[in-house]
Amino acid sequence: MAARAYLDYNASAPLLRVAREAVVAALEAANPSSVHGEGRAARRLMEEARARIAGLVNARPQHIVFTSGATEGATTLLAPDWRMGKAPLRFSHLYICSADHSCLRSGGRFLPDQITQIGVDGQGLLKLDALAQALASHDKAQGLALVAVHAANNESGVVQPLEDIASVVKAAGGVLVLDAVQAAGRILLDMSKPCADYLILSAHKIGGPKGVGAIIAASDLMMPQPLITGGGQEKSHRAGTENLPGIAGFGAAAESASESFKTIDEVRKLRDRFEDVVLELVPDALIFGRAAPRLANTLFFAIPGLKAETAQIAFDLAGVALSAGSACSSGKVGASPVLTAMGFDEIQGALRVSIGQATDMHDLELFRSALAGIVSRRSGGGRAA
Ligand code: PLP
Repeated sequence: MAARAYLDYNASAPLLRVAREAVVAALEAANPSSVHGEGRAARRLMEEARARIAGLVNARPQHIVFTSGATEGATTLLAPDWRMGKAPLRFSHLYICSADHSCLRSGGRFLPDQITQIGVDGQGLLKLDALAQALASHDKAQGLALVAVHAANNESGVVQPLEDIASVVKAAGGVLVLDAVQAAGRILLDMSKPCADYLILSAHKIGGPKGVGAIIAASDLMMPQPLITGGGQEKSHRAGTENLPGIAGFGAAAESASESFKTIDEVRKLRDRFEDVVLELVPDALIFGRAAPRLANTLFFAIPGLKAETAQIAFDLAGVALSAGSACSSGKVGASPVLTAMGFDEIQGALRVSIGQATDMHDLELFRSALAGIVSRRSGGGRAA
């Protein structure tokens, strides 16, 4: 098969070898809730993974609850009914960001009239004033305010001002949930510092298997009513026998992500070279979020006059896998909610290059020649794609 370049890490990072090995090694493990020796060995595997994941964000392992991924994590946390110990606790309103991933924008278990969207500016940064204003008019007599925001955007890679958001939420007496799915392993996240009250992670964005994720709490003070009830697994926060192979793979990927974070500047340099290629071949290209802090691995751009889906197909045919907007739901292509939130309604979609530590110069060269072909056809210099 001809060489291909996989430039879609934000959709799913390639499974790391260490993660694959950990998955395979755990496939025959017993039930981690069983009290016999085999069960205790399975539990040890699970607790090792929990400790590795805690290490990635400097959290306490006992504050981690495993889920089937970030969507389940969001649906669990975005809930009006919580408990503080045995006492019920009520959140009356949810504040989300208009550029959040759909799993936050859908509002979890809140009703539509209990949700307020806070906008972003043209760079994709949350409007802090608007958040502060919305929280100032929150009616505390009805219940607490829950704020859920992405730490880094899946499409643009824009990194939100996390400390500022945390202090606005704290000053208003609210609780902050951060969707750290794209941020994990790409920016420093430290739960021991004032950051967020809860983080949401997903294994497959850091080189682990799909279908496993975690909620990480800063303390064990309060938790939402579980989404999945039944057995007492995960301290009754998430019933059902844990996906041990998935969790083991997640743990291995998290450990690897902690290690490879040391080389994130190399990823940034390579991403910048992809950006240089775009601007060299398409001088009028629009690069989104360029003036904002961005993930080191992400480049989100539009080629004026060219539909992103058309370009994506042309890239694919030329051996380059990348995304048009975010294509994380069933391959459907539609207006990018992130571009809309940023005020770019008129753009015919955008292309996302997202890379990782395994991306190399061959990938860059494949990308360059594919883009050169697309550009020459755009200007009528060759066959139509
Ligand atoms: N949040 C962000 C920022 C994402 O990019 C994604 C996946 O694309 C999700 C949440 C959902 O993750 P999962 O596939 O684990 O449900």
